[in-house]
Amino acid sequence: MARPQVDPAELAAGVRERNRAAVSRAITLVESSKVEHRVLARELLASLGSSTPSCIRVGISGVPGVGKSTFIEALGTHLTSQGHRVGVLAVDPSSVRTGGSVLGDKTRMARLAVDPDAFIRPSPAAGTLGGVARATAQAMAVLEAASYDVVLVETVGVGQSEVTVAGMVDTFLFLTLARTGDQLQGIKKGILEIADVIAVNKADGDREGEARSAARELAGALRLVHGKGEWAPPVVTCSGLTGTGVEDVWQRVLGHREHLTLDGLATKRAEQQLDFTWALVRDELDQRLRRSAGVARVRQEVRAAVLSGELAAPAAADLILAAYDER
Ligand code: GDP
Repeated sequence: MARPQVDPAELAAGVRERNRAAVSRAITLVESSKVEHRVLARELLASLGSSTPSCIRVGISGVPGVGKSTFIEALGTHLTSQGHRVGVLAVDPSSVRTGGSVLGDKTRMARLAVDPDAFIRPSPAAGTLGGVARATAQAMAVLEAASYDVVLVETVGVGQSEVTVAGMVDTFLFLTLARTGDQLQGIKKGILEIADVIAVNKADGDREGEARSAARELAGALRLVHGKGEWAPPVVTCSGLTGTGVEDVWQRVLGHREHLTLDGLATKRAEQQLDFTWALVRDELDQRLRRSAGVARVRQEVRAAVLSGELAAPAAADLILAAYDER
């Protein structure tokens, strides 16, 4: 096998020098699922060293159309104007199924895409959610080594991907729209458990008043859910389109970090690493199961036996596991 034309140490030096082409190549390397690339990626990450808690990692989620890319464009350009360097990554569960990638698309963030202090990377176009999460976590390390001090990770409001992103960031921001009356029903319960800050977006024009009352209502409901001393996610309003309230959202994100304290943040990140370790192991085992020749041999037979009622599920599972262990 030809050795890929990559020298991890050289690439790491380019990343640290903030060379955009090197950053881009480094992310392509960590996104690769090829075994030889994974070895090189590990070398690269080792030469990059560990990140510092001064990097601010924020997850941003909400249903399609809630205004995520417009909001990230507004927040990102606001932050770069303040001297921050901003990286944007995406976890797009639809890309896992379709191989296409939508989130983090540069054409959706026209101004930020040409900002020299910003780096936008669309969602990796294939793989399992675990594989995409691995790529995203490592891309985050690359961006932090290239002195991007704010990393925004965008994801669509569909279950597992949000939990995955929440497990990689310091603060999870949930964007929603004003729907007075059915606020809580309109938001999946799991989201409320992982959201650290909630913003009712598109609070502009005729919708401003509606957004404000929706935010008040939601904030009140959340205070009831969260106990004293616990972080109750603040609910604010904003408009990514006009920029109104975007700075306030950012202050709430910083407020959440302050609440965590440096020690709390370090503990949170360490625990995330441990959870992530096991998630990667589970993902890899799942892949091996899919690739296993032994399993492939019994697959059809077991399928037919279970469908016809000849074989019960627990016995079928034992058969498959035995075929897997045979190797
Ligand atoms: P995403 O799918 O969550 O990334 O949403 P987009 O940012 O692509 O926005 C979806 C649509 O909503 C677009 O037509 C935007 O122009 C519009 N939009 C986004 N943000 C706002 C906002 O703050 N106010 C208003 N009125 N429209 C917005």
